Amino acid sequence: MLQFFGRGSAFSELHNCAFFLNGQSLILMDCPASAFQALKHVSFLTSCSDIRIFVTHTHADHINGIPLLIHYAFYVLHTPVSVTAPSQEVAEDLRLYLDHIEGCDPTGYRIETAADAILPFTAEAISVPHTPSLAGRCFGWHLNVDGKEIIYTGDTSSLDPFMPYLHEGVTLYTEASYYTATVHLQIDMLLPVLLKLMQSGVRVFLMHLDDEAKITEKICDTDIALAPLFDMKGETAMSDIYAKETLDSIFSITHDLYKQMCSDQESSHETLFADLTSLGKILTGADRASFWKWDKRRHELWTLSAIGTERIVIPETTGLVGKALREQKVVVTNDPYNDPDFNPEVDKKTGYITRSVLVMPVADVNGEFIGAYQMINKPGGFDAAEDCRKLSPAALICGLALESETFLEDSQRDRLTQLKNRMGFYADYLHRYGKMLAAGRNVSMFLCDIDHFKRVNDTYGHNAGDDALAFIADILQKSCRSGDNAYRWGGEEFIMLMPDTTLEDAAKLAEDIRMRVMNSTCIADGNEIHMTLSFGCCAIDSNLSVEANVSHADQLLYTAKEGGRNVVKWEPLPSWQNH
Ligand code: GH3
Ligand code: MG
Ligand code: MG
Repeated sequence: MLQFFGRGSAFSELHNCAFFLNGQSLILMDCPASAFQALKHVSFLTSCSDIRIFVTHTHADHINGIPLLIHYAFYVLHTPVSVTAPSQEVAEDLRLYLDHIEGCDPTGYRIETAADAILPFTAEAISVPHTPSLAGRCFGWHLNVDGKEIIYTGDTSSLDPFMPYLHEGVTLYTEASYYTATVHLQIDMLLPVLLKLMQSGVRVFLMHLDDEAKITEKICDTDIALAPLFDMKGETAMSDIYAKETLDSIFSITHDLYKQMCSDQESSHETLFADLTSLGKILTGADRASFWKWDKRRHELWTLSAIGTERIVIPETTGLVGKALREQKVVVTNDPYNDPDFNPEVDKKTGYITRSVLVMPVADVNGEFIGAYQMINKPGGFDAAEDCRKLSPAALICGLALESETFLEDSQRDRLTQLKNRMGFYADYLHRYGKMLAAGRNVSMFLCDIDHFKRVNDTYGHNAGDDALAFIADILQKSCRSGDNAYRWGGEEFIMLMPDTTLEDAAKLAEDIRMRVMNSTCIADGNEIHMTLSFGCCAIDSNLSVEANVSHADQLLYTAKEGGRNVVKWEPLPSWQNH
């Protein structure tokens, strides 16, 4: 994803200089004067909202273009420049250097370390060995931009500091020299290491070349490539680069999703939403993105997935997301602090400054609004029509995914009691609890049934009976500890699954619930209803089928009913049934 204005070493015509675009920001890796000369002729420079330079070290051929670029950006482009140093020491060197150059207006640029900079992606400086005079002040960079990992070595005499980062999917831009110099990586020594890295799925590009022709000969039989030079003649417009990178990102995200779905690992809607949210961020060039579900049952909006922020739950009527769903239209503000619907509380808590927001509501196939995309902080602000057009492929898939997730959730939930139903029980038993059982963990369960429930219906009517069922379900739900789950098995029967719980402890919990129900009063249709429960409680035997385990609990429940009801029956499985 890096492109190069030059890939030559210190005394070449075109010094090594790489760049990439992140949204509307231009990011340069070092800034030699020859790169600046190339850069000022490219047309996309005028559409950049800001320029950032990642510095590797302070050799003249790496940084002598910085003051020129600062001048140009300040007087001609009116674009701010940020210089990101790999360490405090290098930052001080740069400050000393730039402060003494006439015309580097201090309002036109700033110098900061990677640790202090607020960056829209991950950037980590990696200390490398180079010339003794630069000991401790020479660095490479590890960047993670929209899920793409890059290692940029800068000048180094060893690849060792980068080895922990070089795994499948990473792109390595490494310096390579033909002539032996103790401060550089010599191609003959480097080749076997690079070939091995390529075998493990690392993509390799060579840069900072002292003799390009000779190095090309060395790599001609390999898949190693020279760093890609930016085409100055058929100059690619920024929009073309943007389109190419966007397409590339769409393909890598959709391909990741495809691989996840085809792998034997269980793929969840959660990862799907996380990937689709980062896709939305890439499509619009926003700094942060989140996808919100409208939980109409709880009257809440909550982030299904948020990139760059924590999960948030808010009442459905609040915030810009609430406004977009309420009014069923796209909401854009490029001045949120003057928008009465904007809630600045999150900014206050986190110190983040929201400058622009776009919310795009998402509907299911029936046109029912079910969620919304929210994008935050796009350099230059959002354009409702244009950004929604860009966001639409991700919004479409999110809408369908959310609809299918909601459908799955509804099909596994009982509307009357709000507990999961029998389908939900089987799904959980097979996946979540099945994994625990396979790992040798204890899982216990009980089956319980309301005593003489028919009489409740007969005495108070079916509606009161419904309320009574919801009342018992609520007690069961509230009795769940972390990891426990209560289900409506059918009619007035419920099941509880309890992980990491012995039979004795499960029976104790059942006994507590039995007492709680016996001592409580359900008010339904103005009537005071008293109920009791009977329980059959057992430890799940992982060698038996789910049906056999439920049947064991059912036999115990039957004994409880036979013995007069309002009691917990529990016992281990008879040993003859255990084999
Ligand atoms: P036992 O102590 O032996 O369990 O007696 P019971 O009366 O509870 O058992 P029975 O199986 O004879 O009756 C269960 C009753 O539960 C009958 C049925 O109408 C009622 N029921 C099942 N589902 C619902 C429901 O969703 N709402 C209402 N109101 N009643 C229900
Ligand atoms: Mg009953
Ligand atoms: Mg029953």
